[in-house]
Amino acid sequence: MFTAPEKIFGLFGDPVAHSVSPAMQQAAFAAAGLNYCYLSFNVKSENLAAAVAALRVLGLGGVNITIPHKERVIAYLDEVEHEAGLIGAVNTVVNREGRLVGYNTDVPGFLLSLRKEADFDLRGKRAVLLGAGGAGRAVAFGLAMGGVESLDIFNKSPHRAEMIAQEIHRYTMCEVGTGDLASERLPRVLERADLLVNATSVGMHPHLDDSPLPDPQVLNPGLLVYDLVYNPVRTRLLQEAEARGCRVLNGIGMLVYQGAMSFELWTGRKAAIDAMRAAVEEAL
Ligand code: NAP
Repeated sequence: MFTAPEKIFGLFGDPVAHSVSPAMQQAAFAAAGLNYCYLSFNVKSENLAAAVAALRVLGLGGVNITIPHKERVIAYLDEVEHEAGLIGAVNTVVNREGRLVGYNTDVPGFLLSLRKEADFDLRGKRAVLLGAGGAGRAVAFGLAMGGVESLDIFNKSPHRAEMIAQEIHRYTMCEVGTGDLASERLPRVLERADLLVNATSVGMHPHLDDSPLPDPQVLNPGLLVYDLVYNPVRTRLLQEAEARGCRVLNGIGMLVYQGAMSFELWTGRKAAIDAMRAAVEEAL
């Protein structure tokens, strides 16, 4: 017999058709014994204000926000948590009895994944980040707030990396360098780096043969290489890094931990990480 869900949650973005978040959050609700439902809503940019108003009017419990709305959504919320405000991006909205509060769980999700999956302590480490889009911005703030000694951001369009560096300088003491992906500085900083994070979309399905790093010889075996891409689960970058003797991580951990933190904000319950990860792996 059909029983109507007690609460509805969802994802606002464009595109959203291939998102694994519904499978992941539904698994978390089931594990917690909650009769809740999570749906994807394809929201075009011109409809974002109306979609947020609908969230309030229809009484949804909350939503995740994804590309391309993470920054613009802030203008339509009643309140934004401090760190999300600094970063300038919200990926989770909680509806507290009609008051919409924005959070960013991408940053703590990334940091938790590094700690839990790789036992990696950022303090005093030298990090290199490829990419300065929405995910790159979250990772850059996470690395700087996490206490890296230095951070170098390389992006196809270097002005986006420079903008992030300027914002980070305002809030932290972290040394931040920038450049474009073809820069001669990239191999030099990689020689001494401890962590390389790919936050570009290069290597993502269906472009399986692409890598953001044309020459894998620049990877030193002491590196932890973290690719935010999770489809495929082993990108060309990760395969080449493994062949060079590096430790590697894909983006599934960040996806699961940011989702778990959203779940916990919405429900006040602890998320079933293993069930969420299994649902993601199955959906992929
Ligand atoms: P985005 O805002 O669209 O940014 C895309 C980034 O990729 C930009 O830095 C862009 O450089 C770069 N890029 C795109 N095409 C390129 C090319 N041909 N050569 C070199 N660089 C290129 O997207 P996003 O939200 O940051 O997402 C980036 C990646 O992270 C995606 O693969 C996404 O799936 C993944 N991601 C994973 C998680 C997770 O939880 N694991 C979370 C968020 C995102 P320009 O700025 O120069 O255009």
